[in-house]
Amino acid sequence: ISATELTRSCLEHIDKTDEKLGAFINIYPEQALQKAKELDEKGFDETMPLWGVPVSVKDALATKNMKTTAGSKILENFIPPYSAFAVEQLEKAGAIILGKNNMDEFAMGSTCENSAFKAGSNPWNTDCVAGGSSGGSAISVASCQSFASLGTDTGGSIRQPASLCGCVGLKPTYGRVSRYGLLAYASSLDQIGPFTRTVEDAALILSVISGHDERDSTSSPREKEDFTKLFQHPQTDLNNITIGLPKEFFESEAMDGEIAELCQNTIQEAKKLGANIKEVSMPHLTYSIASYYIIASAEASSNLARYDGIRYGHRTNQPQDLDELYTMSRTEGFGEEVQRRILLGTYVLSAGYYDAYYKKAAQVRRLIRDDYVNALKECDVLLAPVSPITAWKKGSVTDPLQMYQMDIFTLSLNLAGLPGLAIPVGMAHNMPVGMQIIGSAFDEAKLFTVGHSLT
Ligand code: GLN
Repeated sequence: ISATELTRSCLEHIDKTDEKLGAFINIYPEQALQKAKELDEKGFDETMPLWGVPVSVKDALATKNMKTTAGSKILENFIPPYSAFAVEQLEKAGAIILGKNNMDEFAMGSTCENSAFKAGSNPWNTDCVAGGSSGGSAISVASCQSFASLGTDTGGSIRQPASLCGCVGLKPTYGRVSRYGLLAYASSLDQIGPFTRTVEDAALILSVISGHDERDSTSSPREKEDFTKLFQHPQTDLNNITIGLPKEFFESEAMDGEIAELCQNTIQEAKKLGANIKEVSMPHLTYSIASYYIIASAEASSNLARYDGIRYGHRTNQPQDLDELYTMSRTEGFGEEVQRRILLGTYVLSAGYYDAYYKKAAQVRRLIRDDYVNALKECDVLLAPVSPITAWKKGSVTDPLQMYQMDIFTLSLNLAGLPGLAIPVGMAHNMPVGMQIIGSAFDEAKLFTVGHSLT
């Protein structure tokens, strides 16, 4: 099959399905077919690991010559002058970018309903949410519109939609993938990673998009690793692997009974494959929602200050003065959830409240990180649920605090900066369920090995 035929068939599938699914904000058929044609004319090149593979990219990642909206009205017609590092790497490897995936505005949300353009729908039941914020990425991979997608995970936004839609999603270690060209939400938590249909594909995409980039000062100086080598002679047992089960996750009252049962089945399967199973305790996990939403909002309020109606994006019509230009451009351009986070963030950073909120949250973050480091001293990896319930009905959760509770199992990992791989483990209530495998910093190889054995 040629790159052009494959690209055309993906584009036709998107055309047929996306009105219902809402996985894309913008699709670029001509650019994709042009790239495919160029590849076909030059012929297959085995040095390009993604030669001719149609992929998609969350709309939070800058793409030269393609609109990049971050799911927001404020950037509705913004075309960046450059591409994100991770996007450049995909293109260099021969991938074909079909378009930009739908998302919650500025990656703030857990359902893909906060997109300023349209809500994403779960391919298993279109009345249900896809998860978020990288909902469009999960939909497009799970419904075979594209072979892989890049998403971003600030507090679960890769792992949770992957689990709710039944595909694989990896949040790499903080610093593994350059954030250059990622429209920042919370810079100390944001990380770019792949959505794929298999663990092996996730390893391939990570090998392509990782590596040092001097344009991101937090990018790790490590050499690029080739994770695909793990799959030349893949380990299929889990002998000599100790898997920790953080009891605070499994004892959570929020967890649905059928999901709890599936988690237990997966643990039994790991045991059968030879793993040592060990209970561990992470006493500070219960504070992760409070700590995360303070830190993430604080950073967001600072990062989003750049959208002022002058330098980028939407500008209000006929303002009376400069103040009104700023205020009205932002009032018209930002959605409700984004405005809520900016208000919350400026509040917790304000002189009178900084010590009580931001500083405390930062201290708690350190304790949560220490909990992970200590647990991982005793174990190779940890295994945990991703979402307390399966994909819920669109529109059914409207209270912001109730929505934040849905992130109970995912946020702490970003506070600790560690990698997490979400894999599908079965179905409950006729919807997919995922679990996450968590590892030490830069130990993604182990996550792939365990994830491969368990899928
Ligand atoms: N749901 C979380 C939030 O709204 C996480 C989002 C994310 O990881 N980008 O902040």
